Amino acid sequence: MRHLPRQNEKALIIGSGIGGLSMAIMLSKLGFSVTVIEKNRQPGGMLRSYVRRGIHCNVGVHYLGALDKGQVLRRLFDYLGITEKLPLKRMGVNGPVDRYYFTNADADPRQFDMPVGLDAYEARLKEAFPKEQGEINGFMALLRQSAGELDRLEFLFRNQPVADLIDQTEPLWEVLDRLGCSPGLKGVLSVPSVWIGVPPPLCPQFYHTITLASYLFSAWRLESNGAHLVKVLVQRLTDLGGKVLCGQAVRRINVRGGYATGLTLENGEQHDAPLVIGTVHPNIVVDLIGPENVKPSYRRRIKGLVNTDGMFAVNAVVSADTHKPLPYNMFSMKADTDGAVHDVIYTQLRPSGRPESLLLTLITSGHDELWRPWEKTHSGYRGADYGAAKIALAHALIKKVEPVTGQLEGLEMIDTYTPLTIRDWVNSPNGSAYGVMRSDSQMLSAALLNRTAVKGLYLAGQSVMAPGILGTILGSLVTTKFIVGPERFSREVQL
Ligand SMILES: Cc1cc2nc3c(=O)[nH]c(=O)nc-3n(C[C@H](O)[C@H](O)[C@H](O)COP(=O)(O)OP(=O)(O)OC[C@H]3O[C@@H](n4cnc5c(N)ncnc54)[C@H](O)[C@@H]3O)c2cc1C
Repeated sequence: MRHLPRQNEKALIIGSGIGGLSMAIMLSKLGFSVTVIEKNRQPGGMLRSYVRRGIHCNVGVHYLGALDKGQVLRRLFDYLGITEKLPLKRMGVNGPVDRYYFTNADADPRQFDMPVGLDAYEARLKEAFPKEQGEINGFMALLRQSAGELDRLEFLFRNQPVADLIDQTEPLWEVLDRLGCSPGLKGVLSVPSVWIGVPPPLCPQFYHTITLASYLFSAWRLESNGAHLVKVLVQRLTDLGGKVLCGQAVRRINVRGGYATGLTLENGEQHDAPLVIGTVHPNIVVDLIGPENVKPSYRRRIKGLVNTDGMFAVNAVVSADTHKPLPYNMFSMKADTDGAVHDVIYTQLRPSGRPESLLLTLITSGHDELWRPWEKTHSGYRGADYGAAKIALAHALIKKVEPVTGQLEGLEMIDTYTPLTIRDWVNSPNGSAYGVMRSDSQMLSAALLNRTAVKGLYLAGQSVMAPGILGTILGSLVTTKFIVGPERFSREVQL
């Protein structure tokens, strides 16, 4: 049953990542009295950058798509009321947004430059794969359909979003095979699904194509950093009368007679409210509800969902005398004989905020098996062996990217993080980077996550609709629609 709120009704939100803060702003705008509860001393979750040697290192925001005037993320930022406060740098002005390098000896093509714009992308594909015009036309038709649906926010404003999804969950790999794409073309087309943590054989084509479309609309970097974006969001929430309470983990979601009644914090404090939204991983929410308040079948369904893998990242400085910032992202990877890509390394080289150095960021798959010996330890208490294992992997990655970046002069490592770091920072199971995996077999379960078995308790955050800044804010909108009902949502939420 839908929750129909009264004016000034209290809402409690668990977690202050982009999911929690966007949810909080939306509900505040709709007249709720909102408090966000965050376990860490500082708000922001994965959005927040951290500082090493005076340099801001971003974690969960390296680039953003669709922020041009009228485009989908821009409309959402406008709705949240944060656009004016965010200095942004447009990518792809005189070159690519992404550069893909295939490092296997038999790669064909070895490099592919992804431009801005759907038409430019189609032209670039046809130039790189001149014998596959029909295959590219087939893929572009699907891409254009998803781009249109994303732009019109159809899944938000039509009445049966879930039913429509079923038609578009054919896995990307099957689509590319059906279209008859060569291994080289499959490799190029499949990179976005790998970047969002879903292997192409499992990735619903719609999920893949909306991700790709969002970056083809336009691509941007924050001129500042993740901590600044968090500050802007928190300020906006505070201006609307909302609050963020940091350094207080939620220990329990209180439930009476099947209805959420509030939260109990680690320090024993109790906060009462008829509306609670968990923007942390669904597994954590289920644990917080307690087994007595949900059916075992609901618990099993949530706990049985497969998550995306974690990520390993390196931040290092290199000399600004001998290197230039790269205005695009680089993805280096190997493709096997049928086009499947492996060992993807994302590379960004950008100004560090200090004149003498540039910040080099490398991100790759979590290599979970490497960190098993420290699984039962906590951040800051893992010992020298763990530090040595991180440095060894970081050097191995640097060696792998040097053939494409050129030799990295004056490199000094400033930080590395593993899936265990992310696990402990934001409570993501096994450090999963993007939460529940939106694979073909889980797409429907994920699409149904917003509502829970407890009345007045909803879910938002990256696991419910799609991950990333765009996907997570869209998830907050879908949850808001469930909370206030479709009529009020359509009347009062103008995007
Ligand atoms: C390495 C990496 C790179 C990425 N790059 C990009 C990118 O370039 N562009 C992009 O769009 N997306 C990117 N993403 C994805 C994006 O950052 C995430 O999808 C998004 O930030 C998730 O937001 P969230 O609010 O759902 O979760 P989180 O940010 O994890 O927020 C959850 C919050 O809940 C808090 N919490 C947990 N348990 C409790 C509790 N019991 N009580 C109180 N608080 C609690 C946590 O501390 C955390 O602050 C990246 C992610 C990673 C890991």
